[in-house]
Parts: sequence; C-alpha cells; structure tokens
Amino acid sequence: MIEFKNVSKQYENNLALDKLNLTIPSQDFFVLVGPSGSGKTTTLKMLNRLIEPTDGNIYFDDKRIIDYDLKQLRLQMGYVLQNIALFPNLNIQENIAIQAESLGWSRKDRIARARHLLSQVDLDPDQYATRMPSELSGGEQQRVGIIRALAIKPKVVLMDEPFSALDPISRKQLQDLVLRLHRELKMTFIFVTHDMHEALRLGQHIAVMRLGHIQQIGTGDEIMQHPANDFVRGFFQNEHAPRPTTVQSLLDAGYGEATTAAATLTADASVSALAAALKQTTPVVVTTVQGPRALSTPDLLDYLAAKEAD
Ligand code: ADP
Repeated sequence: MIEFKNVSKQYENNLALDKLNLTIPSQDFFVLVGPSGSGKTTTLKMLNRLIEPTDGNIYFDDKRIIDYDLKQLRLQMGYVLQNIALFPNLNIQENIAIQAESLGWSRKDRIARARHLLSQVDLDPDQYATRMPSELSGGEQQRVGIIRALAIKPKVVLMDEPFSALDPISRKQLQDLVLRLHRELKMTFIFVTHDMHEALRLGQHIAVMRLGHIQQIGTGDEIMQHPANDFVRGFFQNEHAPRPTTVQSLLDAGYGEATTAAATLTADASVSALAAALKQTTPVVVTTVQGPRALSTPDLLDYLAAKEAD
C-alpha cells in the first residue's frame, strides 16, 4: 500500500501540491487524471524520489520512502515514460534485461525473461528479441518500454502519459495490453493521464486533480455518477468528449449475442459500469426485453472505437 500524508511541493513561488492525502491499495490500477499543471507528474515522481516533497511523508508498505535505500526503492518501482528511450545501440532483449544485468542475473536468465515478456505482449521473440530499436514502430517500442519496466518484477509500475504520443489505434491496443498485464501480474499500476477517457477505461480508482489539490477519488462510476463539484462534472463531460451513454446504446448498435446465462447488468447501466464488470468477468450478461444478451470486451472496444470515429 502507498500513502501520501499531507504531502506538499513548493517550486520557488509555485505551490505545485498542497497537503496531498492519498491512499493507493496494493495491486490497484490507480489513475491520476487532471489538466496540465495539476500536479500529476510531481505526485508520481515523488514515488521513485525523482522529486522530493517540501513537506509531509509518503509511505510504501508502511515505511517512509525516505527511509528506503534509494536503489532498493527504485528496483521496486518500474517506470514508463511517454517517450520511452530505448538504448539505440542495444538490441531489444538487451534493452529489456538491462536492469536484470545490473542486478547480476545470468545471461541465460536474462534472455529467458526478455523472451517470456516479449511473448506476453504479442511480440514474437524469434522475430523481435535481436532486432534493434530503430527496427520497431512507435507502438512496438512502447510495448518494449512497458515490459522493460516489468522485467525485474517490481511491486509498483509508474506510468506517466505512456500513450500520449501514439495514434488512437495503437493507443487502444496498448490500453488493452496494460489492463491485461495488470490482471496477470498482480502489481500496483499508477498511471498519469490528462485524458479522462483513458482514466475511465483503465482505472479501478481515479484521483481527479486540479491545481495541486485532489478534487475527488473514486471508481469511474462513482465519479461519473456523483461528481464532487463543478470542476469534476465539467472535466468528465467536456464538449470534446462523448457524453456518458448506457449499455443500451451498445445493444442498439447491434453488439451482444443472445444467451441463456443469468444477467448481471441491466441495459440502463452506464458504459463505465459495463467496463468495470468486464474487468471482473467476460462476457457480461445484460437483461433486455428480448432476453439476456452477452457483451464481451471486444464489443465494448469496437463500440467505443466506432463512437470515437463518428
Ligand atoms: P502535471 O503533471 O499535472 O501537468 P506537474 O506536476 O508537471 O503537473 O506540475 C505541477 C506544477 O508545478 C505546474 O504549475 C508546473 O509548472 C510546476 N512545476 C513542475 N515542475 C517544476 C519545476 N521543476 N520547477 C518549477 N515548477 C515546476
């Protein structure tokens, strides 16, 4: 578990974070979302101590992070950035295993780990392991950046706008990928984005930030349905974003298959409720007037992609 207790950060005359209090449960997928300058990156970088607080304490597994050996702390905190800089003169498996090498893993173990991780993100190790970074697309490089951060099995993975530079299709694929990795690996993921759609799609819990203050923390559903204030309401319903829709809109668009299974959602549930349910089990069965229908994760993604293309 990670806890921020009254954490402030002052940059000269700019108070970037003001008495932040935050609890992030172990193995959560936690998203920090807010407009540019709200303090998201500052919050994230305090966890691997790239930035030190001016005041307050941060605890990781009940111990102040300031009391950890810095190297040990950083080994527990994988870090993925927007522009992942792979080492251009190292091949892909060497890039993935670079931290393992510094920890003294044998060459055999390093290669095995790199190949395993490549196959986990659908990059065929026989094809990709010995390629150079320049021989990969942006989306493929970003996949490698993600698995590099996972290579030595950190407890926490910090991700700072990792998909902002990607085209919408690669972005969706990588969002799917991190959701799957999160389910499989049981690590705590902390993800920074300014995109509320991305926050809703990924986060089990979401903290909405503005000007160094947390406005609201909750599940996507809680925030959408009960915004704490006008800022949160406006942020999640801005005119550039599609308004929240219900599961009925997917059914109306032709998604879903007839089934005899027992329903767990009604068609008037929000799309974010469907997304949350799909994280637990897929497909999700919905009650409709024509009888139960099963909606799968691909149905939801295709629907959202089609909606975005509108
Ligand atoms: P976000 O990630 O939400 O865009 P940041 O954490 O990067 O926000 O920044 C929060 C505030 O702190 C902003 O006003 C930003 O200009 C300021 N800030 C960030 N880094 C520095 C720095 N190194 N020196 C001075 N001000 C900074």
